Amino acid sequence: MSVNESTDSKTTVDSFAERAAAFARSKGYAPFEFADLSGTPMRIREELVGWHGPVDEESGTGDWVYPGRTVIDVPGRDWQASRPEDCPNESAAGIWLDAAGDEVPAVGDAANTGGIVLLCPQCGLDCT
Ligand SMILES: [Zn+2]
Repeated sequence: MSVNESTDSKTTVDSFAERAAAFARSKGYAPFEFADLSGTPMRIREELVGWHGPVDEESGTGDWVYPGRTVIDVPGRDWQASRPEDCPNESAAGIWLDAAGDEVPAVGDAANTGGIVLLCPQCGLDCT
């Protein structure tokens, strides 16, 4: 890991995609590729995520999250955890939602009818 953290302090208001890409690059990763939500009621929450799930006492953080990966907000669905850093979910199981924001069987399941995003069921973190 680099010890030269970004000292970029420009004050222009970047789009979230640009901020997320810069965040990824500052940690040595390629920009995260967001799910294409155009034409759906779902929206990418424009907040960078530090980690997911309960904090481990040794590491001081929860599960690693790819820099720039964030929550997808779905109309009519309230995530129990207000943010991934406060999510109680330690399970890897997510829920698939289709373009209408409705839950569908997992991709790979014969009954899957068009899931486009895989989200944590408790905080909405994009796990696609
Ligand atoms: Zn979660």
